[in-house]
Amino acid sequence: MKTIFEPFRIKMTESLKVTSRGERITKLKEANNNVFLLDAEDCMIDLLTDSGTGAMSDRQWAAMMLGDESYAGSRSWKHFESTLRDITDMEYIFPTHQGRAAEHLLALTRVKPGQIIPNNSHFDTTRANLEFAKAQAVDLPCREASDLSANFPFKGNMDLDRLAVLLKDHHERIPFVMITVTNNTGGGQPVSMKNIKDTRQLLDQYRIPLIIDACRFAENAYFVRSKEQEYESSSLLDIAREMFSYADAATMSLKKDGLANIGGFFVCRNQDWAEDFRNALILQEGFPTYGGLAGRDLEATAVGLREALQLDYQQYRHATIEYMMNKLLKLNIPVVQPAGGHAVFLDAARFANHIPPQQFPGVALVNALYIEGGVRSVELGSLMFGKGDQSAPQELVRLAFPRRVYTQSHFDYLIEVVEEVWAARKQLKGLKIVKEAPFLRHFSAWLEEID
Ligand SMILES: *Cc1c(COP(=O)(O)O)cnc(C)c1O
Repeated sequence: MKTIFEPFRIKMTESLKVTSRGERITKLKEANNNVFLLDAEDCMIDLLTDSGTGAMSDRQWAAMMLGDESYAGSRSWKHFESTLRDITDMEYIFPTHQGRAAEHLLALTRVKPGQIIPNNSHFDTTRANLEFAKAQAVDLPCREASDLSANFPFKGNMDLDRLAVLLKDHHERIPFVMITVTNNTGGGQPVSMKNIKDTRQLLDQYRIPLIIDACRFAENAYFVRSKEQEYESSSLLDIAREMFSYADAATMSLKKDGLANIGGFFVCRNQDWAEDFRNALILQEGFPTYGGLAGRDLEATAVGLREALQLDYQQYRHATIEYMMNKLLKLNIPVVQPAGGHAVFLDAARFANHIPPQQFPGVALVNALYIEGGVRSVELGSLMFGKGDQSAPQELVRLAFPRRVYTQSHFDYLIEVVEEVWAARKQLKGLKIVKEAPFLRHFSAWLEEID
């Protein structure tokens, strides 16, 4: 069948405000040409992020009603704990309110100034927490990752050659190594089981622990199943279990493959690690059996984690992204290949090749998508990663897909919007910053079009 079958039906709807082009021009002007400053209700299709924006299932909502809000040892905690033990087989399990809280407490308890933490690519909050602990966060993405149109199946992989050199020279300064699945910073690209296994073997020579940043572990499991032949008939749960079997600990944001709107966790095997983490958790997040979450959140995430591992759900999710990707490719629109697990990336440097990086071609494209169709996307280019006149190595625009939220008609509409902007790409105008903050300027900068 050519049509994507969404393996759910809709029991409750949420109205979207339909806006006109004229209204959107006014709104964007009021937001100083920065889509972060728009009101969400003025965005007809909001693809700013896939984090915490997913739709919960009827079973998750039902589970929320069963939330046990007891302070210590609640039934909901037991449900959460048994679910995570089943998936990760880790001895010690701690809920946190978000992924970054788990990262913060990990850095606080396990990282010393001057240490080095390698990762296939650190997510920005992971990097920030490690750097805050005065350690060095090193990215070691595989070589294939830098070629935006190379069709290599596992572009999220760790570069094992560079890791081997780093270990040889500095192993005494490396408290642990991390692998992020999927590689979010690298575009949601997958990491192969072989790469995780090989990383583990390399680390065994130095007895260095491996920590998985598991935010999109179920999407990664699906990639392993469809691209690594020996897993083609494995269940996603078995693939996830094998992946965690190579790790000593894991952090996760449950706002991704937890299919929930909030939550995170830290899990580990080592008793000393657990002891230190527990003490820090009580100080900063809450008692260890709720860790900053309500009992109902623990219930919703326990159910969500299982749903994320359902094959028909992942098939639908990946089919949607591939559908979008293939339609854009057919129209010769420049996109990053192959499709990642949670987003499609437009290559703004090629899309608007008449706009130099200093004039933010990505922002020009983001703004045009908003005016054309009320679509909110995000620039990952010189506004986000540049500094002053210094531009970023790539000018990308990310369309991140909330889980189970938009239908195939929404995707068809989205493709039409991109197509219209592509047809009129020569009219896109560069921008200049008229006001910016000293850090993370992309969130709040004011911009003006250059005529
Ligand atoms: C989202 C994310 C985090 C941080 O999680 P939050 O819940 O947003 O704090 C960490 N690592 C990766 C790979 C992520 O995608």
